[in-house]
Amino acid sequence: MTKNEQLFQRAQRHIPGGVNSPVRAFGAVGGTPRFFARGAGAYVWDADDKRYIDYVGSWGPLILGHSHPEVVAAVQEAAAKGMSFGAPTEAEIDLADLLCHMLPSMQQVRLVSSGTEATMSAIRLARGFTGRDKLIKFEGCYHGHSDSLLVKAGSGLLTFGNPSSAGVPAAVAEHTVVLSYNDVAQLEAVFAAQGDQIAAIIVEPFCGNMNLVRPSAEFVAAMRRLTEQHGALLIYDEVMTGFRVGLGCAQGLHGITPDLTTLGKVIGGGMPLAAFGGRADVMAKIAPLGPVYQAGTLSGNPVAVAAGLATLKLISAPGFFDSLSAKTLRLAEGLQAAGRAAGQTFSADAVGGMFGAYFTAQAPQSYAEVMASDKPRFNAFFHGLLEEGVYLAPALYEAGFVSAAHSDADIADTLAAAARVFSRL
Ligand SMILES: *Cc1c(COP(=O)(O)O)cnc(C)c1O
Repeated sequence: MTKNEQLFQRAQRHIPGGVNSPVRAFGAVGGTPRFFARGAGAYVWDADDKRYIDYVGSWGPLILGHSHPEVVAAVQEAAAKGMSFGAPTEAEIDLADLLCHMLPSMQQVRLVSSGTEATMSAIRLARGFTGRDKLIKFEGCYHGHSDSLLVKAGSGLLTFGNPSSAGVPAAVAEHTVVLSYNDVAQLEAVFAAQGDQIAAIIVEPFCGNMNLVRPSAEFVAAMRRLTEQHGALLIYDEVMTGFRVGLGCAQGLHGITPDLTTLGKVIGGGMPLAAFGGRADVMAKIAPLGPVYQAGTLSGNPVAVAAGLATLKLISAPGFFDSLSAKTLRLAEGLQAAGRAAGQTFSADAVGGMFGAYFTAQAPQSYAEVMASDKPRFNAFFHGLLEEGVYLAPALYEAGFVSAAHSDADIADTLAAAARVFSRL
């Protein structure tokens, strides 16, 4: 038995499924999850000391790669001064100032500890601000695991959502309307029928939780126009895209000013840190200023804030995103070329430091198109690359992430490995 197999057996004794977050269990792709012992730059090493080029990056946060020395130093320095106070610190103000400076739509911001908390709080705030209950989300977008957001599509247009998890009351799910990503006509029909009851649209502005799916320009414009017309709020869930697709986030690339934005992943540099913020008149409804309650023992944790500040400083260096985006595009184009050269039905796409890889003829536009992708083939591709020492997310429904630490040689090695795997599929 390998060390990974031994650890997986041991883990299952006291941890449900052996993991602390479900996708880690390799359920979608089969096989034994890798238990990581350490990471440095673009690489991770598992319990059997096998090295992988890592394209998961802790599911997005590690845009500088693993254990960047300046981030580690900032964390060590902060930890030595105190792990947590449950009281305000100066560094929190620095981070809030920086976030509001970097994102013009953000006039006020509150720090929390996870993306789930950020989206859950943004939705409560949107409901409290508008006095309405209904929420629009899109099929295939993931916004964390709070009750209102674990909802799948109902049976037809204008029907309400059904819980997509046991334990979510139908009475909660029924306030969530689940629509198809990129379907402008459907969105218009829902606003025409019940626009006065809708508190907010929440959207992944580039969807990275059903592989990578881009929004059309018409879809983006329609979300902003319809919410404005009907007095609903537009929430950009940038937990994944924030400071990942560019320094101005997805909203900068779209030229859209959302009412609220949620952030996470990159802004914590690998520590538990997330945020929600936006219009000052909306944020004024949050406690202690207003009637919408939200709180957190570890919110604005000084060690996490130090990691976030160090990360945001480093990614603000001139040319950072030009270089990261060019490298990520080179990977996506190379994968697509290698797949097609081997006769596979395969395509790939990239936005900033995020990429998608699909066993479909073209990049998908919706959840239905992602689901039509060849899953057994992806799983064989995943395991082939794993064997070759390349670590992709263990499921077809995930975007991949490149970091500043990935070298040209890492990209070239990955493409060579992919070509070998494609030819064996
Ligand atoms: C990861 C993610 C979340 C949830 O963040 P957690 O920190 O895992 O709770 C929410 N929204 C989006 C778009 C995400 O990618």
